[in-house]
Amino acid sequence: MGVRPLRLEPTKSVYYHEAVARFGARGALRVLRSTSKRWFKKALVRSPIFSAARRFFPPAAVILSYHSILEEPEATDHILGISQSRANFEAHMKALAQHFSPVTVEDVAQFARSGRELPARAVAVTFDDGFADNYEVALPILKRYGIPSTFYIMVDAVENGILPWYCRIRYAFNSTRQSRWSHPESQRTYDLTIPEERKAARASAWDWGAALTGKVQQDFVGGVERALETEPVQAKRGFMMDWEQVRALRKAGHTIGGHTLSHPNVAQVSESEARSEIMGCKKRLEEEIREPIDHFSYPHPALNPQWSKQTLELTREAGFKSAALTMAGPVRAGDDPLALKRIYAANDLDQFTWNLQCTFLGRAV
Ligand SMILES: [Zn+2]
Repeated sequence: MGVRPLRLEPTKSVYYHEAVARFGARGALRVLRSTSKRWFKKALVRSPIFSAARRFFPPAAVILSYHSILEEPEATDHILGISQSRANFEAHMKALAQHFSPVTVEDVAQFARSGRELPARAVAVTFDDGFADNYEVALPILKRYGIPSTFYIMVDAVENGILPWYCRIRYAFNSTRQSRWSHPESQRTYDLTIPEERKAARASAWDWGAALTGKVQQDFVGGVERALETEPVQAKRGFMMDWEQVRALRKAGHTIGGHTLSHPNVAQVSESEARSEIMGCKKRLEEEIREPIDHFSYPHPALNPQWSKQTLELTREAGFKSAALTMAGPVRAGDDPLALKRIYAANDLDQFTWNLQCTFLGRAV
């Protein structure tokens, strides 16, 4: 049985005795160890030690990555699995406004390219995919705290109102009542009544779909849904933004960027497919937004690597000024603006702040 987190309010001794009563001495020690780590981080993250330490490291910026912000992320976890709560997001933005320097991806790209100076603790906020809650939930919070953001749009999802394929796969495997599934290529059959097997089956479908684009990818996902006898989830509600909402984000002063057409792993598809995904999303977005689209982010569906020399060249050829990777770490002057690292935003505020502070010091979190 996993260790259930305890409330932190009691004094250490009360807390320890409570933990002993609940988990036995060994369990209590484990709880204490993880709690003291949290207390240690909490204390450290509020101390001046990080700003003192930063003087010994070259200046850096951090790009934060979000996907979806919902009032109750748990309600759609079986479909999306990448949402954060509105309350957490608001706490993050408040912390950025108070203790960090919110900047744009354009600012970070210029800093990487030419060393143009940025304020201390510069952080850029980004969203991937184009979920409708970016407009409905995140936008008012960004406005409240005066934080600029970049929204990287998966064009097919917005154009056709369909969920990214990896969400459809997630939903199909989480909701199916079938007890078996056979991989269409390897023919391996998974026993879906065993949780680990169900996860492995889902991961193998993600791996398979990540190397497909466009209609072939949609046919593959449709085949999985038919085999698992689940209905396509996107028919139930509009998860994605429409073009009007994307344009409204731009009108509100935010940046719109590209995130491919159909969300493949562009390093795992043919050169012509990668070219059409990278160039095609820029062209469609420019038609809809009616201004140059300068920034791109790599989808992170499955398989490694997620970018290559060839994809870096294609983003350059397409005319993007920056591309954000899925690799964690800080951005430093002299970095290739077409290979900018970024980090996932942790849910918990203390962990979020800790990760930011550590990333400024060069640690990949
Ligand atoms: Zn994505």
